Formats: sequence, C-alpha cells, structure tokens
Amino acid sequence: MTEGADFYRLQDLDSEGDKKRQRLMEVDAALGDSDALRQARQSLQSEGERVRKWGVKQRDLELEVQGLADKISREEQRLYSGTIRNPKELEDIQAEVTALKRRRQELEGDLLEVMIEREDAEAAQSEAQKHLDEVQASWTAGQADLTGEREELQGKLAEIEQIRVGLLSSIDAGDLVIYEGLRRRKGGIAVVELRGGTCGGCGVAVSPSLEWQLRQGQLVTCSNCERIIVRL
Ligand SMILES: [Zn+2]
Repeated sequence: MTEGADFYRLQDLDSEGDKKRQRLMEVDAALGDSDALRQARQSLQSEGERVRKWGVKQRDLELEVQGLADKISREEQRLYSGTIRNPKELEDIQAEVTALKRRRQELEGDLLEVMIEREDAEAAQSEAQKHLDEVQASWTAGQADLTGEREELQGKLAEIEQIRVGLLSSIDAGDLVIYEGLRRRKGGIAVVELRGGTCGGCGVAVSPSLEWQLRQGQLVTCSNCERIIVRL
C-alpha cells in the first residue's frame, strides 16, 4: 500500500514540475522576435523611404533648375551676341529671359522647401536607427537571460523526473492511476494534508471515522473534493 508521505512527496514534485513547465512555456514564447523590435525596424524602414522620396524630388528639381540656367545663359548669349538686330526679336528674347528667371526663382523656392523636408526626414531616420539599436541591445541581453533560464529549467525538470522515477517504486500502480486521474480533474492537486481536522484542499471537516482510518495509516479521500488526504 502507498504510504501517505510518499504520496505527498510525489505531489510536491509534480507541483514543482508543473510550475517549471509553465515557466518554460513562457520563456519559449518570449524567445524570438519581439513586437518592440518589429515596430522599431518598421519605423526605420518608413523613415528611410521618406528620405529617399525627398531625395528624388530634390534631384528632379536640381536638374530642372540647371536646365533653366542653361537655357537662360543660351538666350542671354543670343541677346548680347550682336547677331540679332531686329528690335522686336530682341525684345521677345528679353521677355523670355525674364520669364525663365522668374520660373527659376520659383523652382529654387521649391527646392529649398524640399531640402528642409529631406533634412527633417534624415533626422527622423537617424533617430529611428538609434531607437532600433537600443531595442536591439536590450532584446539581445534579454535573449541571453532567457536562454540561460531555459537551460536551468530543463536541468531542474530532468532532476525532478529522476527523483520521481525513484519515488514511483514505492507507489502502488493502482494508486498511481487514481492519483493521475485526480491531478487532471483537480487542477493538478491530488494529495493534500490533513489540517486541524479539515481537508487541506477544500477545507471541509474530516469525519471522525475518516480521521481514525488516517491514524491507522489507511489511504482516505475527502468526501467533498475527493482528494487524497494524508497525515504527515
Ligand atoms: Zn477536500
């Protein structure tokens, strides 16, 4: 017959194993990419896209301004070359040069705005890079801690399993089946202590006859919660 103390020891080991397995699941879930890391990467990417977008706009405008400058200088050369004598034609060229210069001035204003936008985007990009570096560093440190904890938990679980196997030799096979069934149905707790004449699981008073059986070293179960009660 199974001794109450052995049953209690088995319960103790299994409860400890349950806690370690639960923690192992949490550790496994925390290992790998974190939301913070994903978000930091995403924001760096979108800031990078902003920088590229303004960069393209800036280049386009610079080319346009350069094109206008070339055209202005060609027209001015014609104007002052002395080859064109017709006053009406000279007047037309002068008017075109004036219009081209006005257009260039507008574009230079646009270009300045675009350069400011690009600088803002570059500042935000380097801020996002800094943030990602920080998140990455703390994630890496956390992963090392978690990996260490994982190894520790696995070692402890192996140890518990070894002790458990040794203990099973003193537990009756039929009792073990009852115990396992109770563990499944009773939130992992199948064996409880007698506490001041009450069941340590549900707190209901143990009848005098059951208490007498306990004193005789018999295996008794609570009439209320069905758990195995032991007297230590
Ligand atoms: Zn009970």
